[in-house]
Amino acid sequence: MNIDATVYEAAVPMRRPFTHAGRARDRSESVLLRLRLDGAVGWGEAAPRPYVTGETVPGVLRAFEGLDLPGLVARIDSGSLDGALASLAALDLPELGGASGPAPAAAAALETALLDAVCRLHGRPASEALYRAGLPGAMLRPRPGPVPVALVADLSRDPAAMLDALPPATLQRLTHVKVKATPDVAACLRRLPGVRSRVAPGTSVSLDVNAAWEVGEMLAAAPALAAAGLSWIEEPTRPRQWSALRRLREHGVRVMLDESFADATDLARAAEAGAADLVNIRVSKCGGPLRAARLAARARQAGLGFQLGVQVGEVGPLWAAGRLLGTVLAGAVTVEAGRQDEWFPPELTEPAYRVDRARYLAPPLTGEGIGLVPTGALLERCRPHARWETGDRAWVPA
Ligand SMILES: [Mg+2]
Repeated sequence: MNIDATVYEAAVPMRRPFTHAGRARDRSESVLLRLRLDGAVGWGEAAPRPYVTGETVPGVLRAFEGLDLPGLVARIDSGSLDGALASLAALDLPELGGASGPAPAAAAALETALLDAVCRLHGRPASEALYRAGLPGAMLRPRPGPVPVALVADLSRDPAAMLDALPPATLQRLTHVKVKATPDVAACLRRLPGVRSRVAPGTSVSLDVNAAWEVGEMLAAAPALAAAGLSWIEEPTRPRQWSALRRLREHGVRVMLDESFADATDLARAAEAGAADLVNIRVSKCGGPLRAARLAARARQAGLGFQLGVQVGEVGPLWAAGRLLGTVLAGAVTVEAGRQDEWFPPELTEPAYRVDRARYLAPPLTGEGIGLVPTGALLERCRPHARWETGDRAWVPA
């Protein structure tokens, strides 16, 4: 099989920064991977976040430099889509981090690019791969379709003012509103009634703390948090404080894990400790769309619910992979789609990013593979880092 590949660093400026308790972001921090298998080109993207998986952009670039690409591709049975899916499932891609530990974001880029290329090789949409991935039938919609997506209010704007700016019909249609928290628990509690009172009774509301609260302060506020009308609180304190999370749950607060959860080990520990009700499944954090879907299935098996979330600043293949999960999988408590229409110019991908903002509905992508390709306009904003040409034995600096 002829193989070539290019790895790019993508630092695309955002038109408006996004702010949460962990940090403010004003550009994408992604690594793009273009992988050609014979006549089919697949694309993948990593969004490494030190505060989520411990990965960085230079770390992902190093992980790729250490990758024996033909050796890896030789382990994929590309003769049929089912064969390719089985061999992809058998690979432990996050282990490509080697001695430096699991590298789920790098693995996500690789799994997405391999899935995209293999599906295109067979002229099939990636949704078909998801239907054939052996997931429980109850987790699959009858066919891919538009999915309601959450409104996420970051700290750069007052959430109540953000809701007031929506047309009344849109406001009434919202299925979920997620509010980003500050480190000040009392200030967060004061903001919530303004959100709850503006949305329909059936709209769920959550608070994403991004690990910013002190354990003591959080537990002292537990009765007030339980009475605040929240559907759940996402990652309230430092990651993996299992007993503190269990104590919070004992007050009647539902807990969603995000930074505390990246793989099956986290899932098992949290379930055993009684530390969670839900997990946030995100493609970049969970090692790729197929791996993320399997983790969602494991969460269900452990009695936990799941959200399909995104990384802020996804520029192309990652949002397509997230859209794939959101429009195929059933049973998520809510689905996020990002706000690329506000953050980035529309010409970065073909087709362009799209969400119906009047109805907060994300349509599925169609066509072969993951359904999009980066445009020249995106690649102009990326820096090629390394190339693998057909017949090479190693990456060469680009
Ligand atoms: Mg989160």
